[in-house]
Parts: sequence; C-alpha cells; structure tokens
Amino acid sequence: MNLSLVIPVYNEEESLPHLHQALHAALDNLGRSWEVIYVDDGSGDGSLAALEKLAAEDPGHVMVVELRRNFGQTAAIAAGIDHARGEIIVLLDADLQNDPADIPMMLDYIDQGYDVVSGWRKSRKDNFATRTLPSRIANGLISVTTGVHLHDYGCTLKAYRRDVLTGFRLYGEMHRFIPVYAHAVGARIIEVTVRHHERKYGKAKYGLERTLKVILDLVTVKFLLSFANKPIYLFGGAGIGLMVLSVLTLIYLMLRRILVEIPVLTSPFFLMSVMFFILGFQSILMGLIAELLVRTYHESQHKPTYTVRRVIQRQDALTSIIPVNES
Ligand code: UDP
Ligand code: MG
Repeated sequence: MNLSLVIPVYNEEESLPHLHQALHAALDNLGRSWEVIYVDDGSGDGSLAALEKLAAEDPGHVMVVELRRNFGQTAAIAAGIDHARGEIIVLLDADLQNDPADIPMMLDYIDQGYDVVSGWRKSRKDNFATRTLPSRIANGLISVTTGVHLHDYGCTLKAYRRDVLTGFRLYGEMHRFIPVYAHAVGARIIEVTVRHHERKYGKAKYGLERTLKVILDLVTVKFLLSFANKPIYLFGGAGIGLMVLSVLTLIYLMLRRILVEIPVLTSPFFLMSVMFFILGFQSILMGLIAELLVRTYHESQHKPTYTVRRVIQRQDALTSIIPVNES
C-alpha cells in the first residue's frame, strides 16, 4: 500500500459523500494504491451510517474505525494512524475545508525526498476574531519556541512519510505538533500553501478556548523536546539559581548587620533567603527523581536516545561477519 489518508469524523454526515467523491477525483489517476481510513469519533448524527455506506460501496479503498465515544480530533487521528498501512500518510479534515485536490502536489514533494509536507492555509476562511487571529498568535509562539518554522501548524492537511510518525504518542490537542516531533527525529520538512474553503455543512467544533489548550500543550512539548532526556539540567539549573539567590540575600543581610547594624533575624529578607534555599534544594531533588523516570522510560521500553536515518555498509563486509548458511 502506497498511500493512507486518515480522516477524523465528528458529525459531518453531509460532507462525507462529497469528500469521498473528491478523494477519488484527486487520487484515481495517480497510479498509486491508496486507502482512506475514516475514524468516526463518536458522532451523534448520521455520519456512521454514511461511512458504513461508503465502506460497502467502495471496499477496496475504505476502512472505517469506529471509536466508542467522542475522544477528540487528536485521538481520532492517532487511531487512524495506528490502522494505516501506507508508506505515506496524509491527514485531512472531513469537513471539506481542506481540498483533496492539493494531495497530488504534496505527494510529489514526498517523492522528492521530503518526510513532511505541511499545508498552509494562506487565505484561511474561518472567523477572524475567534479562529484566524488567535491561531496566528499561537503559530508565531510555536514557531519561536520550537525552532520549527511553519506558518500553520493547525492545518490538518499534511503528508508524512510513515517512519517519522513512529516513536511518539499524541495527547490532548497535540496533532498540530506532529511536525515538531518529526523534526526532532530528523525529518526533512517543507511547507506548501493549500486551498481552504468555507465550511458548507455542519458546524465548527472549536472556538477560542482551544488556543489556551494549544499554548499549554506547547509548554509540554517544549519541555519534552528540550529536557526529556536531561531533566536535571532544567530542575538542577533552577535549583542552583535559587540557592545562589539565597546566599546573595544572606550576604546582603550580613553586610547590613555589620555596616548599619540592622538585625538579620527579624528582616523579611531572612525568610526569603531561607525559602530560596529550601526551594532550590527541593528542585534539585526533583530533578534527580525525574532522571530516574527518564531511565525507567528509556530502559524499560528499549527506547534509544537517538534516531538513525540509515546505516551504510558494504554487503560483503556484512557477510564476513555473519556466516551465511550454504545449502
Ligand atoms: N473532529 C473530530 N473530533 C472532535 C472534533 C472534531 O474528529 O471532537 C474532526 C471534525 O469532524 C473535522 C476535524 O476534526 O473533520 C476538524 O474539526 P473542525 O472543522 O471543527 O475544526 P476546524 O477546521 O475549525 O479547526
Ligand atoms: Mg474545519
């Protein structure tokens, strides 16, 4: 299987037949084998029936994964990826806002050797105040914080080579951070502008509150990427900083005592100094506990602390090490 499309579906019954038609129109003449995995994320309307119908009519291309309840878009995407069999995985929304006609162009980039082709809704057709503007701010923040410079993390339409999608799990609203994870394992990323349409059927599922979640997710992702392997650098750094602050405060108090005879013990600065010391010490201990957790994580699951793109070795060198059975 060459290509798997993963599409999360939550109450999109009217869009589905149009979407499926558009997929055929875009993909049938490419000479690639493809499948589409519709993940029904606990829809309450006729979406599941519509999907069952598609699966019955087009069994060669359609797989439907029905989740037991609504788990959210990210979880639905993760479920779809777990069921996908293609070398290339393309994610898109079910609401016809993404245009399947962009997919062939994205696949060309994958063929050129890119691991991630990230769609950018340059002229986005969503409510400006509640969606487009907050999303611009969030995108700017993500770009600066993670060092992976894209304009549109939130656009679902993206194509991935399968091997950059392994090795991490998606939580919360984190599907938008897949390119960031992929970058961390060394993926080659390119951004392309894609079409974006207004929603014709159904309702948008998100509003302003999503931006807050995205920013909290960003803190998590940044922490995981920068310190997940060496948490003591963060906790220990903060701890040492606090202890230095504590000592400086104490020196200040001592000097005041000697020079202008202000008593040390009754000063609020003394309390601060003691607090800084305790906090700093605690922080270092927390860092050590985190180091234990990291070791448990890597060693219990045999997770390497690196990723290999490929190993180059001549074939005859290999056979001289591993004796081949001649029969
Ligand atoms: N979606 C989902 N589970 C949810 C919410 C949304 O699977 O809990 C799907 C939805 O059906 C659509 C995609 O995620 O295919 C994006 O949703 P929406 O169009 O509401 O988001 P927006 O395009 O406004 O970011
Ligand atoms: Mg949408």
